[in-house]
Amino acid sequence: MKVLPFGLVSSPAILTNVTKRLLSDQNLEEIANAIYMDDIIWSSNSESDLMKMIGNVKDCFNNAGFTMHKICSNSDLVLNNIDCEEHGSKKVLGVIWNTQNDSISNVIPDIQPINTRRELLSMIGKFFDPYGFLDPWKLKLRSLYREILLKDWDEPLPDQIINDAMTHLQCIDDLKELKMNRNIDMNGDLHGFADASLSAYGYAIYIKKDDEMHFLFGKAKLSPCKIKTIVELELLALYELGKILSRMHVVFHNRITIWSDSMINLQRFGSSPNNQKRNVASQLMKILKIVNDLNITIRHVNGLRNPADLFSRINDSNNRFETYRVSSISIKNFEFADHVDEFRKLESIDQMMNFVEKLLPIGNTAIDRWNLIYRFSQFGSNTNQINLPLMYDDIVKIKTRNPNFSPIWIPKESNVVLALIQFYHLETLHGGIKTTMAEIQSRFYIQNLYRLVKKFIYYCHVCQIEKKKPIVQPLADLPSSRVIFAAPFECVCIDFFGHLSYRNGKKFYILIVTCLVSRMVKLEVVNSLSANSALTALNNVFLQCGTPRKIYSDNGTNFVKCNKEIKKFLDQLEESSKLDNRNIEWIFSPPGAPWYNGTVERLISVTKRCLRCLDASFRSFEDARTTFLKIESVINGRPIVQDDDRWISPFEIAYGRQQQPLIDVNADLDTNGNWPKRLKEVRSKFENFWRSQYLASLNQNNQPKITDIKIGDYVLLPSDRFIKRNKWPIAKIIDICNNSNNDDKVIRSVKIRRLSDDAEYIRPVNGMILLDRYKN
Ligand SMILES: [Zn+2]
Repeated sequence: MKVLPFGLVSSPAILTNVTKRLLSDQNLEEIANAIYMDDIIWSSNSESDLMKMIGNVKDCFNNAGFTMHKICSNSDLVLNNIDCEEHGSKKVLGVIWNTQNDSISNVIPDIQPINTRRELLSMIGKFFDPYGFLDPWKLKLRSLYREILLKDWDEPLPDQIINDAMTHLQCIDDLKELKMNRNIDMNGDLHGFADASLSAYGYAIYIKKDDEMHFLFGKAKLSPCKIKTIVELELLALYELGKILSRMHVVFHNRITIWSDSMINLQRFGSSPNNQKRNVASQLMKILKIVNDLNITIRHVNGLRNPADLFSRINDSNNRFETYRVSSISIKNFEFADHVDEFRKLESIDQMMNFVEKLLPIGNTAIDRWNLIYRFSQFGSNTNQINLPLMYDDIVKIKTRNPNFSPIWIPKESNVVLALIQFYHLETLHGGIKTTMAEIQSRFYIQNLYRLVKKFIYYCHVCQIEKKKPIVQPLADLPSSRVIFAAPFECVCIDFFGHLSYRNGKKFYILIVTCLVSRMVKLEVVNSLSANSALTALNNVFLQCGTPRKIYSDNGTNFVKCNKEIKKFLDQLEESSKLDNRNIEWIFSPPGAPWYNGTVERLISVTKRCLRCLDASFRSFEDARTTFLKIESVINGRPIVQDDDRWISPFEIAYGRQQQPLIDVNADLDTNGNWPKRLKEVRSKFENFWRSQYLASLNQNNQPKITDIKIGDYVLLPSDRFIKRNKWPIAKIIDICNNSNNDDKVIRSVKIRRLSDDAEYIRPVNGMILLDRYKN
């Protein structure tokens, strides 16, 4: 019989028999086994074998009067040599084979409107999915179908159901992206993952060869209504997984590992089933039988890393990326070593997180990312460098005596170490060394951690601004005028203070002139800070006690308002003194450094204290003058040198007799009638004391270390104490000023440029905070 009527029930059987007979006659049994109806799928690792085989089969069929057509291959060589179709997507056995990249994907049907139970079921049935790729996605439709089981076939469905179904179907196009490798080497280890939730359970099977994991097969099912606990559903998933693996084992004799995230069930495998409830026990026995027969290893997997998690959850359509995860695991041949070099250039945890997120399948969790970071950090490091018991898993951990605590080992040379220190230092809001270390040590084991953390915090920009101590340079040698004995008022230090007010509200100021040797004070009331009135006041003082040789003063920044006037005045005075040829040497201290004129500042505070005690109010200039002359006499009467049983005051040093109330003047004259002699005695006593005691008291033993400052360094400028440190301006040192009266190498004042407004100033370095390694 050479002709067969179309549509006979026996036609397929006859066709199969004929082709099989034909092929076996030609010794082509291999091909006979690869026939499905009228399609042949055959694969070979060698292109020449393949072309030879195609030739043989073609000849075989041609001789019998059959013509082979629609021949296709993923090999360019085969396509070029044999009369084949072009590269492209071909439909093979119900799935789509893309010959270009040799991948398989599902045939995705078009969306049909759903209004009845029948239409919903028909839609579900349109997805032909032999390897369970779309199962997680289909779960949602199935669960909707379960809700309407009691409805008639053609009864209209509730709007809610229709909406849900249609929204879920909207992302149907995304499913077309799902691809799976066609060519999978089956000589690897099989890994089965099982998982369950209250609504669904399922499993996924992967094959692992070297470092490549390929998705093979998966199944997702709705949970049976009668099983109410997750643990039992997990057990059911394990049983189903065991059943399918035992079937696969018949064909592929791979080593099999089963993973579950259910700790309870894993413990049950270790104990006797007799202790369990009857249904659990029987399920356990069935699984244990499979496990023992196939010599399966059962291991625990973290729930978040369990790929079967996807097969046990009913996805919302919003969560469409979840579906991709299955495919990505299978397609991405993750070449770990390829990325290590790039990874090692990263500096912060944020960067690392972003980096690994791109490597991991879409929808990865933070834990996945962290784990990958740990693996990167440990990659290529030798565990011999630590002498501690280790736990080898994906990630090397340190085994401690506490079973619940196993810190992750981070090799000290890894870039992750600094990133972690930075991360936890910021996490603890710039915590100190111990706080930062405690956070790290509760999770990780890093050698030499203390040293690394200390160094990191030392250079932390924010911590430097907040905590670093201000610069304190060692005290300079005292100016010569303070260590060389001189006559009273030969060297003076001057300053203004105020303002004070008369009763009528008018302001006045006090000019204070102090002798640097005897520490005697002159206070002069000045009605304004204008150059003229100040000059007059200064002249008044000099008329009383002689023109000094040296005058020390600040630049007048103490009273910002007076600044300009004083300067003008000082300039004027300097001018005039030059004209006079009186040779007054005027030494200014840098602005913003009141301690340069410590002597006079100290006396100002004494004066102010006296003023507070007096609680005076000033009616007129005369009134003020009298008050300050009184204060002056009190200050000058203060004891500064001890002479055997009594103290000597500055007044006595200057005038050779005690400063006493008017009434006692005569008595004083009586006892110490010889003035010049008395003056000489007191002066020499003072000089002796001054040389032996006073100078010695100025010793400089406890001096701070010299801070090295260079041009180009960045400093934090001290501001008002009510302003937080992080608001203090940052400035760059642009020049170093050499103070005229210092020969030592210590840098005491510098020229700076403020970064915020490029303003330039000269400032003392004391009190500034030097920022190490500061970058803009
Ligand atoms: Zn910090």
